[in-house]
Amino acid sequence: MQKQRPTRIGIGSDLHRLENGGGFMLGGLFVESDFSVIAHSDGDVLLHALTDAILGALGEGDIGELFPDTKEENRNRPSSDFVKAAVEMMNRAGYRIGNVDAIINLEKPKLGSLKPEMKKSLASLLGVSPELVNVKAKTAEQTGAVGEGKAVSAEVAVLLFRRECENES
Ligand code: MG
Repeated sequence: MQKQRPTRIGIGSDLHRLENGGGFMLGGLFVESDFSVIAHSDGDVLLHALTDAILGALGEGDIGELFPDTKEENRNRPSSDFVKAAVEMMNRAGYRIGNVDAIINLEKPKLGSLKPEMKKSLASLLGVSPELVNVKAKTAEQTGAVGEGKAVSAEVAVLLFRRECENES
């Protein structure tokens, strides 16, 4: 068997459309808003991108393969389930989180005050210290789907370390 790499990198991105509503889930938190997210699950783009980043680092495909939106059991499912499943796969493969860097693209509301809580929420889901997680929020200058308030999206990069390599050094 090929020797596992000491580090692996992954990226994930996701976008969901917005409609008039009473708020939506983002990074495991409820964001109060005049919009809600159109989705099969709870539509948490940040957790979907995070899940895909971890799966990508592991070389394990993507969230759609693991949790198809054609399956009734995934309807309105909390996206924390997807992250937890990816973390379990990471643990089984012998890796741990090195660090996570995330970008949320949303025109409004401004997320500045929520970012520290979001960082803690992601860290708690991943079982790591908040200092290993960074969350950035951007608007899209009123252009494109995000800028026109029609969508929310997120990108996440993750670095994994192989546990056994750390024990060797
Ligand atoms: Mg999604």
